Amino acid sequence: MNEQTSLRNLMVEEIKDLYDAERQLVKALPKMAKGANSDELRALITGHLSETEEQVKRLERAFEMLDEKPRGKHCAGIAGIIKEGSDLLEEDFDGAVMDAGIIAGAQRAEHYEIGAYGSVIAWAKQLGEGELASLLEDTMQEEKNADEKLSALAEGSINSKAAAAAGQRKSTASNGEDRSPRSVPKSRNGGRSKASTRRR
Ligand code: FE
Ligand code: FE
Ligand code: ZN
Repeated sequence: MNEQTSLRNLMVEEIKDLYDAERQLVKALPKMAKGANSDELRALITGHLSETEEQVKRLERAFEMLDEKPRGKHCAGIAGIIKEGSDLLEEDFDGAVMDAGIIAGAQRAEHYEIGAYGSVIAWAKQLGEGELASLLEDTMQEEKNADEKLSALAEGSINSKAAAAAGQRKSTASNGEDRSPRSVPKSRNGGRSKASTRRR
């Protein structure tokens, strides 16, 4: 009995953490979408933003099911992941290289969420809260789908574009000739290599 009470309390704490995490993501995802260069990546992030808004509402229903007030508890984990993402956006990576980095950051967020929802769902089942478990499984599925779509986009096109852009840039630097301006977007120094000054 006592044991059940304490696992229930832990579960409520983690749901508060997720509630805060999802709300942080609702604010952060539009910034990541704005930083994306690929239309496909932007559409993917924007699509997951609407899912995330729905996930916030699902958590409000979860609090209701548990007879708890919907309250967030600062999620330091997702705050750190979001901070790394916004730091990345401040860097000078161009085009597909920036997109590859945005995908890496977004996948860190998805994996964090998948871990947290996985535990909460297992605890809900253990505690006989089947309805709560299946509600949160809908969210879990969306997080997994988002993660898989991000992998498919990276491995299907963005990583190879990013690799090609880097090679292109190297050869631009050595022969002074820009053969493929499309692959050097947003250049602020005449298409010359910035690679040597990139890292601080
Ligand atoms: Fe989420
Ligand atoms: Fe957290
Ligand atoms: Zn997510």
